[in-house]
Amino acid sequence: MLAPTFLTVLPDEAASIRLAVQLAQHCTQGVVYLVGDLGAGKTTLTRYWLQALGHQGNVKSPTYTLIEPYEIHGQPIYHFDLYRLNDPYELELMGIRDYLEQPNALLLIEWPSKGEPVVPSADLLIQLTVDGKQRHATMTAQSAYGEQVVQALQHAE
Ligand code: ADP
Ligand code: MG
Repeated sequence: MLAPTFLTVLPDEAASIRLAVQLAQHCTQGVVYLVGDLGAGKTTLTRYWLQALGHQGNVKSPTYTLIEPYEIHGQPIYHFDLYRLNDPYELELMGIRDYLEQPNALLLIEWPSKGEPVVPSADLLIQLTVDGKQRHATMTAQSAYGEQVVQALQHAE
């Protein structure tokens, strides 16, 4: 069976904000992969997502730190950028298992492929592609929870 998918065009950053608001509302926990070339908009979408959840202040790209932790209204949220991860087993040293064991944690992971095979499996895959000045976003369910999220995004249109 094909995984449920939701596609949307993001002509500008305002559209990215609208998508982030929907994601913040409907994808409240679990593991999200953010996939796309450098500059595709992974960090930008994450920034708007965290802001939609109520985060105030900076959202730094975890390019060098690999991870930025947040606590938003009591919920633990972890933003990863694994582009510079040298050895996937570093993820274990970083305590990724402990993050996952928190029942309501949300993990947003850029460059998840760099963390294989240690990186946890995704509930939702978000693929961003550049098309001139605009972006295309494809959300694909990777678990039962991800299916719920994709259905909610489809119905939010
Ligand atoms: P990544 O994390 O994928 O490397 P960034 O989010 O750091 O990419 O950078 C994306 C760039 O594209 C930023 O300059 C941002 O302003 C721009 N951008 C993000 N979303 C859109 C959009 N929907 N339309 C046009 N430009 C966008
Ligand atoms: Mg980035």
